[in-house]
Amino acid sequence: MHKITIDDIEKEPDKTLRYEFDDFMQEFGTDVHADLEFKSLGEFIEAAGKITGKLKLTCDRCLNEFDYDLDIDIDETFAKYALQDEYSQEFELKGEQFVTDLNGEKEIDVYDLLYQSVILALPNKKVCGINCNEGMFASDETNQVHDSRMDIFKTIKIERKE
Ligand SMILES: [Zn+2]
Repeated sequence: MHKITIDDIEKEPDKTLRYEFDDFMQEFGTDVHADLEFKSLGEFIEAAGKITGKLKLTCDRCLNEFDYDLDIDIDETFAKYALQDEYSQEFELKGEQFVTDLNGEKEIDVYDLLYQSVILALPNKKVCGINCNEGMFASDETNQVHDSRMDIFKTIKIERKE
C-alpha cells in the first residue's frame, strides 16, 4: 500500500529510488499522479518530485464545483532515527526545510506524504475565478457565519475602490 522501506532505497546502486504513484485518493475523490525520488543521505532520506492531478473543489463564492489543477513540488527530508529530544516531531532546518522524524521506523508512507503535501498546498479561499459572484462569498450574502478571514478580504476590496 504505497510504502517503501529504507532498505529498498539503500539497495539501489546510487541509493536513490524512483517511485511513481498513480492511484485514486479517496480523501480527494480523484486520481493523483506523482513522480518521486527518494535518496538516502546517511542519517537522512531526501524526497523530491512533483504531484499532479485534478481536484474538484467547491467554490467559496458561488458554491459550484470547479476543477483545480494540482501542480505541487515535493521537497521533504526524513530523519531515520529520533532526533534530539528538544526538537518536536517536525522542526525547521536551514530556515525553510522541514524534517520529519521517522523515529527508527523502517518505512516511509508515500500515500501519507502525498496526502499531507496536497492538504498544505490547497488555497485557504477556494474561488472558481477572480470575477465569480462579483467578488462576494456565499457566506457574505447569508451573513450566517462570521469568518475573521473575510475581514481581510473586505479590506482589500475597499482599497481597490480608492
Ligand atoms: Zn465561483
